[in-house]
Amino acid sequence: MFRFRRVRRVSRAYTTSLTNEAMKRIRNIGIIAHVDAGKTTTTERMLYLAKATRRMGDVDAGTTVTDYMDQERTRGITVTSAAVTFQWKGHRINLIDTPGHVDFTIEVERSLRVLDGVVAILDGVAGVEAQTLSVWKQSDAYRLPKICFINKMDRPGANFDYCVEAIQSKLGADPLVTQLAIGSGRNFEGVLDLLTMRARRWHGGKMSEWAALSDDASSLRERAQTARRALIEKLADADEKTMECLVERLTLAFDSIAADEIRAGIARATCAGAVVPIVCGSALKGVGIDAVLDSVVDFLPPPPADESANEYAEEPRALAFKVLHDKQRGPLVFLRLYSGRLRPHTALYNVNRERREKATRLIEIFANEQREIKELLPGNIGVAVGFKETVTGDTLVSLAGHKKSREALAGLSVPDPVFYCTIEPDSASLQKDLDHALTCLAREDPSLRVVSDPESGRTILKGMGELHLEIVEDRIRKDFGVAASLGPLQIAYRETITSTATETANRSLSIGGQLNEVDITLRLSSATGRGPVETVTNECAKTRDAEIIEAVRSGIISACSRGPLVACPVVDVEVALLSLTTSPSASLSAVARCANECALKALSAAGPALLEPRMHLQISTPEEHLSAVLSDLSSLRSGIVEEVQTRQDFRVVLATAPLARLRGYAKEIRKLTHGTATFTMEFNSYALVAPHMQERTLKELKSFVY
Ligand code: GDP
Repeated sequence: MFRFRRVRRVSRAYTTSLTNEAMKRIRNIGIIAHVDAGKTTTTERMLYLAKATRRMGDVDAGTTVTDYMDQERTRGITVTSAAVTFQWKGHRINLIDTPGHVDFTIEVERSLRVLDGVVAILDGVAGVEAQTLSVWKQSDAYRLPKICFINKMDRPGANFDYCVEAIQSKLGADPLVTQLAIGSGRNFEGVLDLLTMRARRWHGGKMSEWAALSDDASSLRERAQTARRALIEKLADADEKTMECLVERLTLAFDSIAADEIRAGIARATCAGAVVPIVCGSALKGVGIDAVLDSVVDFLPPPPADESANEYAEEPRALAFKVLHDKQRGPLVFLRLYSGRLRPHTALYNVNRERREKATRLIEIFANEQREIKELLPGNIGVAVGFKETVTGDTLVSLAGHKKSREALAGLSVPDPVFYCTIEPDSASLQKDLDHALTCLAREDPSLRVVSDPESGRTILKGMGELHLEIVEDRIRKDFGVAASLGPLQIAYRETITSTATETANRSLSIGGQLNEVDITLRLSSATGRGPVETVTNECAKTRDAEIIEAVRSGIISACSRGPLVACPVVDVEVALLSLTTSPSASLSAVARCANECALKALSAAGPALLEPRMHLQISTPEEHLSAVLSDLSSLRSGIVEEVQTRQDFRVVLATAPLARLRGYAKEIRKLTHGTATFTMEFNSYALVAPHMQERTLKELKSFVY
């Protein structure tokens, strides 16, 4: 027994050290960028350089690996976060794609949640654009270390210094220049690495190898020496060890500090969030891509080792951050493994669904190729095939250990959907296929809800925005091959009451010779901001049998599920039971029916009114477009501006506005600001529809029949 335990302990320690070694060579990274900054082009070049693809994909020709879904190709935006793995200098890089569209902030959050570091890409001409600003802030909330690639240095107007300055002033980060651009725009020749003082140039359609500066490049050498000194000084301010290293060599001989020492210092300062290393180049020409990859490996952190050193170290513990449906293999679940090792057929427990799960196979997505693996190591990202119920955002632990590690990893908070519409197959025989497609899509995307309307029996989709639902329709047609169409897009209104009403209902029915006599008086009053209807809160209820009170309650709740105006759910109402008389033999269903009738009468008598979702908007715009944005908000969108913040030459407008006035806002704001502003929009609260709009809205809603 003793021997067994000793042997086991040794082998555990050995396994753990092997695992830790492997973990040190993993980088889980994401790229953030404003649309068009060159995220896709850079990714393609990285995959090509890492020999993960043989052919270079081309955004303009629509042949890239990461934008592999059809609708992404045609729309030119990246909607789905897919993970791609490749090797660089003995490291395994898991690149998780982060989309940038406003309708998909949940997709961004989902991917940031499983990253350890970020590469931000800037357009060398445009500098820091609004989308970079908002995703950068989101990634700051997750304390993710970042490096920055200033791209498009070959474009006329590219300005390296301007971009570096903008990183400091607009993003509030401390840029650490590790590379210089040699020339810019048409004169862009290549890049110079300040750590090694070597340059790489673009000559006659191809790149030279890294080489020391020639003797005739004295002015460039001088510039580089100054920049190297500035780099070391700045690093010494941010990193104590670098400072010690400088002090030890009393003379402050900057040139004597080796590239490796600087590299280690930059890694420490980057991981501590003190600096953001800057590299530059042109993704289109393939310049600077190796520096981006080197910086990922050298400066961004591996998965934190302490994650696997906790009490669950041996138990698999994973977060499902993405589900995709494959026609042949069913759901593919992208996992980040936080601890333990995962093998196919390991019995797992889904903490959120409280169900067992088992992967029949594990694969890694290696560029556009899928490779089967025997084991997934902690800190790594892989894809499980064969899960039955797992939904995006779920936590999985080993079945054996689930009792001690049952706690879910912080998942995603999914906002309430504010848009809905019906969906119908083009022919009734396709209903089953449509149901299957919708089940699959709802597993992929927790912000999509699929419900069945109890009255009409129709299927209703609820989602976050116009584009969100359009893409769902597209995917049903293209990925699942089901011809189906969406009904008109509707806003999820609610109903409420504006005054108090007391009503009585009476039922007297003889069933099977027994007299069912019920007499109920209810008082309904407005309870603004309290949400779901609160029923039977008063004294009278306490004197009666719990069963009877439950029947009264269910009658009221069912009345409030379809309000008197346009059959929307009723909220913000308090119901008091004033009196209840029943004959001794009255059935519970007679009580429920009577309560229902009484509540309906009272709802109609208490000044019913329509509530609409108001959204909270955060709009980032360059200062010159601020007045256009503000006047559009107040004159056309019934917006209420709460605050205008200043972030250097950007203005950030915080406002609320009714969702009904925000249809097509993404397009409109692009027009107003020549594409320079971005916004995020999330549900704020329900508020009464303005009196002058109420009649029109009701008319529109009544004409919308499921
Ligand atoms: P994304 O929207 O951030 O993924 O950007 P893309 O990679 O799709 O690039 C947007 C456009 O910029 C495409 O037309 C690219 O060919 C172009 N582009 C990307 N990188 C560069 C670059 O380094 N230089 C120039 N001149 N154009 C580039």
